[in-house]
Amino acid sequence: MGLYIHLPYCVHRCVYCDFTVSVLKQEEELSWYLKALHQESLFYARTYPDKIVDTIFFGGGTPSLFSAEQISELIATFRKCFKTTPSLEVSLEANPCSVTLEKLKGFKEGGVSRISFGIQTFHSQHLKTLQRSHSQEQALLAYHLARQAEFQNINLDFIFGIPEQSVQEFQADIQKAVSLGPEHISTYHLSVHESNPLHPILPLEEVSADMYEWVMNFLPSSGYGHYEVSAFSKPSFQCAHNLKYWKLHDYLGLGVGASSYMTTQEMPWGDHFKNTDSLQAYWKKVQEGGSAKGQEEVLTKEQAQKEYLLTHLRLIEGVSLAAYEERFGSSLIESYGPIVDKLLTWGLLDSVKKMLKLTPRGILYLNKVLVEFM
Ligand code: SF4
Repeated sequence: MGLYIHLPYCVHRCVYCDFTVSVLKQEEELSWYLKALHQESLFYARTYPDKIVDTIFFGGGTPSLFSAEQISELIATFRKCFKTTPSLEVSLEANPCSVTLEKLKGFKEGGVSRISFGIQTFHSQHLKTLQRSHSQEQALLAYHLARQAEFQNINLDFIFGIPEQSVQEFQADIQKAVSLGPEHISTYHLSVHESNPLHPILPLEEVSADMYEWVMNFLPSSGYGHYEVSAFSKPSFQCAHNLKYWKLHDYLGLGVGASSYMTTQEMPWGDHFKNTDSLQAYWKKVQEGGSAKGQEEVLTKEQAQKEYLLTHLRLIEGVSLAAYEERFGSSLIESYGPIVDKLLTWGLLDSVKKMLKLTPRGILYLNKVLVEFM
């Protein structure tokens, strides 16, 4: 299984953010939070004694606000509590302005094997619009420091569709990223709720579509395979942890607001549960019983089939009809034949060598495709 650890603290809240985030007021909160994570790990190590962890992902929030010692101790705790594979992938999300060479070296020595920087854009006016706390110079410096610290697996995150961002500016961001040579690049379309102050000034959908179409051609021609709607990587550098979400494998989320999907003998189609979003309630629940579950839903076979399909369709290789049949003992076409036919006719889906996948147009109109299956 994959282990997701939510570290919710940030120095401030960016205007577009809809993650479970808490603005850090005092350093002590970090060690207090780590104690709760420790308790929660002990609880789940007892609940799932036979599961083997092969990926750990520290997401946030800003995990790099924690010290190298704190992150190393957490990794040691997980290694002690759970069975782990020797080739454990350990990813950590970092904000360019919260790392130093010493800290990055400490993360590496403590077991972090993959670092992911939230660059978003190299243009200072757009960083300002997004209310990011780093500058272009800090982003470049963080990347070079990570190389000095001997990280051989680096991801850079970018956002497109920022108010007043031109197609050329986005292209310049990605070209600059490629010139640095990270192993992985992710590009996310900026989407915010109607009530968000950025909503009225978002660019036209056609502009964002132009950016996305361009990046879908440019990155593969620069050596970055497009393997998921938002993710591109050099060969063999796909993110093993994120693939668990898209392939509907087991993942256990620890920390406030974290989500899990776990299968067991009693729940073969999976149990979805999510921790409470409130830090106080999280702390209290973990102290009382070890788990901080807020919501839970045990999936029926039909629900699991739908989720398997919806998550796999995000992968560029698509969904294998044979693998689907092996997991569920029934044919995908039997369950979804009329919808698949409709999407094939609309040119949004394609069927190649017993794989059902999105066409380039289908990738652009992903939501339209997903809605049809819901
Ligand atoms: S740094 Fe990331 S998690 Fe923190 S507030 Fe900004 S967008 Fe949200």
